[in-house]
Amino acid sequence: MMIRVGLGRDLHRLVQGRRFLLGGVQLASDRGEAGHSDGDALIHAVIDALLGAAGLGDIGELFPPSEKAWKDADSLELLKIAFGQVQEAGWELINLDCVVVCDTPKVLPYRELIRRSLAQALNIGFDAVFVKGKTNEGLGPLGESLGVEALAVCLLKHKDS
Ligand code: MG
Repeated sequence: MMIRVGLGRDLHRLVQGRRFLLGGVQLASDRGEAGHSDGDALIHAVIDALLGAAGLGDIGELFPPSEKAWKDADSLELLKIAFGQVQEAGWELINLDCVVVCDTPKVLPYRELIRRSLAQALNIGFDAVFVKGKTNEGLGPLGESLGVEALAVCLLKHKDS
């Protein structure tokens, strides 16, 4: 059985006048993620984990920030495109595990919604997707909620093995 692990990480600054999105779910916050797309750091980390596991490049290659097409792009749509390429290469997603680092807003109240949103986009079971929110204990820019960091790890299995 051919299985592969993938790791993704992303970070976005938090600024006023933007939505705070994680996994396609909007969190109540007076600040949101700056970015060329909608800024959903969690989805971007997931995309990099999936592409990395499949050996298909990374998010910057697939969706160059220099391209106008991706301006304010819906990251859930980017995820579906990227995962479509992973599936076309013969890979199935076994599970996805994620960490979001940010002191405010708290992720926990939104966790089930975020898991459902990602599971739906990836067409896998709710129990195969997990998301944990972690604070940075007030330390550094993440602790001051000036940014949000997301990490994702995934396991893929090749259908021909
Ligand atoms: Mg990003």
